Amino acid sequence: KEELNIIQGALELRSKTVEDVLTPLNDCFMLASDAILDFYTMSDVMQSGYTRIPVFENERSNIVDILFVKDLAFVDPDDSTPLKTITQFYKHPLHCVFTDTKLDAMLEQFKKGKSHLAIVQRVNNEGEGDPFNANQHAFIITSKTVCKWILKTA
Ligand code: ATP
Ligand code: ATP
Repeated sequence: KEELNIIQGALELRSKTVEDVLTPLNDCFMLASDAILDFYTMSDVMQSGYTRIPVFENERSNIVDILFVKDLAFVDPDDSTPLKTITQFYKHPLHCVFTDTKLDAMLEQFKKGKSHLAIVQRVNNEGEGDPFNANQHAFIITSKTVCKWILKTA
C-alpha cells in the first residue's frame, strides 16, 4: 500500500546519504566569479534552465557564491554588469554539507533553511591533515532531488 511505501522510503532516508543522489560539479552549470553579464552569458544562463547557479573562483571545486536566476531580473545585458556586482548585492548564503550527511538530515536542513541547493564537500580521509579542512567542493544537491528520491521509492 501507498502509506507503507512512504514509510519505507522514510526509513531508507536514514540509511542513504546525500552521496547517493548528488550531481557532480563536473556536470554542474556554473559561472566563474569574474564573468561579465553580457548578452552571451545571460542567454547561456537562461538556456541552462537552472534556477540556481553556483559561482566558482579559480577552480570549479571552489564555490564561493550562488546566483539565482531571479537575481538577473533587473540586469540589462547591454550594461555588461560584472557578475560580482550582483552576487555581492544579494549575498545568498552558501549552504555546505559533507558527503556523509544522511538524507533525512539533509531534508530537515532544507525544510528549516531558506536554501534549496547545497554544496557538497567530500570528507578527505586520505593523507595527512584535517579531513574536513580540504576545500574541495564536489557535488550539488537540491531539495527537489531529495523529495523526488522519496517519491521514487514510494
Ligand atoms: P527548479 O525546478 O526549482 O526551478 P532547477 O530545475 O534549477 O530548479 P532542481 O529541479 O532542484 O533544479 O534539480 C533538478 C536536477 O538538476 C537535479 O539533479 C539537480 O542536482 C540538477 N541541478 C540543479 N542546478 C543545477 C546546475 N546549476 N547545474 C547542473 N545541474 C543542476
Ligand atoms: P526557489 O529557490 O525554487 O526559487 P523559493 O521560491 O522558496 O525557491 P528562494 O530563492 O529559495 O525562493 O528564497 C529566497 C528568499 O525569498 C527566501 O528568503 C524566501 O523566504 C523568499 N521567498 C520565496 N518565495 C516567496 C514568496 N512567494 N513570497 C515572499 N518571499 C518569498
